[in-house]
Amino acid sequence: MLRSSCFCLAPSHWDRYSLGIMYQEMTKDTPIVQKYGGTSVGTTSRIKDVAKRIAEQYKDGWTRMAIVVSAMTGETNKLVALVHEVNANPPAKAYDMAVASGEQVSVALMAAALSAEGISSEPFLSHQLGILTDDFHSKARIKSINTEKIQDCWSRGVVPVVAGFQGVTESLEITTLGRGGSDTSAVALAIAVQAGFCEINTDVDGVFSCDPRIVKQSKLIEDMDFEVALEMASLGSKVLHPRCVELGAKFQMPIVVRNTFTPNHHRRTRVMNLANRENLEAPTVSGVTLDRDVAKISFLNLPFDTKIVSGLFAAIAESGVNVDIIVHNMPEPGSKTMHLGFTTSKGECKKAIHAAQRFWSDHIAGPSQSGNTLQVSTEEDCAKVSVVGVGMRSHPGVAATTFETLSHSGIDIRMISTSEIKISCVIDAKHAESACQALHKAFVEI
Ligand code: ADP
Ligand code: ASP
Ligand code: MG
Repeated sequence: MLRSSCFCLAPSHWDRYSLGIMYQEMTKDTPIVQKYGGTSVGTTSRIKDVAKRIAEQYKDGWTRMAIVVSAMTGETNKLVALVHEVNANPPAKAYDMAVASGEQVSVALMAAALSAEGISSEPFLSHQLGILTDDFHSKARIKSINTEKIQDCWSRGVVPVVAGFQGVTESLEITTLGRGGSDTSAVALAIAVQAGFCEINTDVDGVFSCDPRIVKQSKLIEDMDFEVALEMASLGSKVLHPRCVELGAKFQMPIVVRNTFTPNHHRRTRVMNLANRENLEAPTVSGVTLDRDVAKISFLNLPFDTKIVSGLFAAIAESGVNVDIIVHNMPEPGSKTMHLGFTTSKGECKKAIHAAQRFWSDHIAGPSQSGNTLQVSTEEDCAKVSVVGVGMRSHPGVAATTFETLSHSGIDIRMISTSEIKISCVIDAKHAESACQALHKAFVEI
């Protein structure tokens, strides 16, 4: 139930557009959730600047704000490296407990900085608030959020500051939501408290047509449909965590992406449901994305047997590995074998191979066939570039232009995957940036 103190993140639909989504369109008692990312809280002086900004808004009458913070920039990377220094394959619970600790520091520092600005504030870790997740460590999903303490803070004029990225299982084990997951914590909290919108404050002005660090000519996308935002986030545009866009779309929670360092600037991206908006002429391609976290695994000379293929992929799925693009080479006429290639994230590559080899030795290579091993080759020097846009549905020729552009730039394509609104190509990682620049020029700078 919406008004209960514990809000379950199960699908529900209420129309939020009547509220509008910018501050001037709302009454000051509208709950607002603001999230500040790692760079925004990267030094104590930045934390103090952010606290000043929150304090100004509070003094201006926005008293129902909840703040979500990430770990200070670089901290989570350090924690991940530390765990791997002691164990290359760390136990899931220990890994999550270690990497979630970066947020504990920033949440406490932000509450302390707010108090220095004369604003009463309370820091919360996920277990203190009750951000309940499933037990898929390192990629946990939020099941519910208890908003009792947030409401209590607001009734006392206190600003709650909540640790992003982390959750807790029913048996009180610490979980994390996946790298970049504080965005998801913020949108989930916004849904739970029925906020007017969720503001994601980061180190760029909003979502651009490509990563502005790679393509200087990238254009700010001022208004964006959830559908495109989700595709861009899932395909590697790091500025929004894919799961936060998924939640925003499911619960119709508008997301506003802004630059922490230019708070009075009017540049921003609004992500919401644009499907019913008038005069919306969707561009053919809204953006170009790059995912560097791609590894390609190939099983060579596999028997041409669907049972073996399904067994291999079932074993990989059971090990918890997400498989992305799959390509298989049809056998030559007369041949009984084929090659099968697929991609995973680099971190999951070894796990996938291990699961496939275990399936092979348990089910295929019996004692009578000793020596018959699964032939595997791995390429970790891969990247995936994608062009994304809802306008592709009605504009033919996007695939042709994509391939032509990469070919003119001397870039070979290793794998291709398409959907109605995107075309992705796996290429050699050394061409990642030039591929983005060329595709951006071909589709966006026209
Ligand atoms: P935060 O620490 O605030 O969560 P992130 O580093 O996770 O910030 O995300 C912001 C970064 O995302 C930007 O600095 C930018 O380099 C990168 N990025 C990648 N693709 C895009 C894009 N299409 N638009 C904007 N930023 C992007
Ligand atoms: N601190 C976490 C990370 O670096 C979560 C986040 O920044 O959103 O992945
Ligand atoms: Mg982020």
